Amino acid sequence: MIDKEKIEKAVELLLEGIGENVNREGLVDTPKRVARMYEEIFGGLSASAKEHLQKTFESPMNDMVIEKDITFYSMCEHHLLPFFGVVHIAYIPDGKVVGLSKLARTVEVFARRPQIQERLTSQIAEAVMDNLHAKGVMVMIEAEHLCMSMRGVKKPGSKTVTFATLGQFEDNAQLRKTFMDAVR
Ligand code: ZN
Repeated sequence: MIDKEKIEKAVELLLEGIGENVNREGLVDTPKRVARMYEEIFGGLSASAKEHLQKTFESPMNDMVIEKDITFYSMCEHHLLPFFGVVHIAYIPDGKVVGLSKLARTVEVFARRPQIQERLTSQIAEAVMDNLHAKGVMVMIEAEHLCMSMRGVKKPGSKTVTFATLGQFEDNAQLRKTFMDAVR
């Protein structure tokens, strides 16, 4: 559970650490605001994908389902700066499908925590695979990292692309191609 009091203290210390005056008008409520905001953007830590993916529907169709361009915002755990972009998810059902909004909810569960893009990609894939008992899952994430854009190598607009494949997608190039053609 999020400890807002601790976050407030930490933000105050952080501001002092960079040499700011924490009592000036613009900053006096900042620790409280950040604590409230963190409760939301790190809310995934106390959420589980299972609660969104357990409500499934029987379906006789076992063709690939693709949900693309799911917008997400996450926080890089190395720098505590945002990374954000889109997630594309494909799965091959085995008699069970899920409401499409539930895939977006699943993305939020894993995005709203300190993350790295590689782990976010595989956690989404595994959650869909395990909860739907799908025959295969493929996830692709395209994201811009502010820790790349606004500091260090400063490459604004550059995208990091990650993939995760499970089940039938692992050894079937044709399935992967169908997915790639659909999301491009
Ligand atoms: Zn980073």
